[in-house]
Amino acid sequence: MNKLKKISALIRKALTAFFLYFFSDEKCAVCGTNAPFSLCFSCSVQLRKNIVYDVQKRCKKCGRLLLGENEVCTECRENEVLYADGCFSFFSYRLWAKNMLFMWKMQEKRAMGYFFSSCINEFLNQKFNKHNMPVIVPVPPRPHKIKRKGWDQIDDLCRFLSSLYGFKIFRALYRSSENQQKKLGRKERLAFASSSYHLNKKVLSKCKVLPRETVLIDDVFTTGSTVRECASLLKTCGIPKVYALTIFIVD
Ligand SMILES: [Zn+2]
Ligand SMILES: [Zn+2]
Repeated sequence: MNKLKKISALIRKALTAFFLYFFSDEKCAVCGTNAPFSLCFSCSVQLRKNIVYDVQKRCKKCGRLLLGENEVCTECRENEVLYADGCFSFFSYRLWAKNMLFMWKMQEKRAMGYFFSSCINEFLNQKFNKHNMPVIVPVPPRPHKIKRKGWDQIDDLCRFLSSLYGFKIFRALYRSSENQQKKLGRKERLAFASSSYHLNKKVLSKCKVLPRETVLIDDVFTTGSTVRECASLLKTCGIPKVYALTIFIVD
């Protein structure tokens, strides 16, 4: 049975790679050399190494890079904002990281999501016990985005995580507003976020036993308002531990 599972996972990975080949760029997003899946081999190896190394240099509470502080950044020490029970981020949002997000989100290079899903799998397996893996909760897209655009990068990521690595996806949240947060200032964002995310009562009512640990997944951590709002919603419905993992962080 286990062998069968392994073989079917391999077949799924191969088919996904074949499909994604047509959704990728021939240039590497990081170094610009020729690469079939929007990322060359040596850059992808280096990025994986960076993730493990960088996480140790990031604030335990918000995930921003530490500037000589010990474990918790000055801002988190002074403001005591609880974003989640722990925030993890892979890459600081600058230089080539900006290009990666642009290619993934705007140019629809879905092969990026394939790479990020493998990084998330590796990271979560290092961080958590494989018998006690937290359930993944995607930060939901704007309403009708999937219908309009045909896809959403976080939804895509979760599909890879579930079909290729066997993660459980719990779509416990939905988003109600059409407004785009990026057009708002910091204060407006903090106020606005509280009205745009909601618990998906339909999904929750079907769930017999709530997960004890969840990981919220999003693309960018900017002010932390989205993570804070979504995490507090999940806690109000009775989930004791909520972590957050974003691919990029503005720090
Ligand atoms: Zn490269
Ligand atoms: Zn912090």
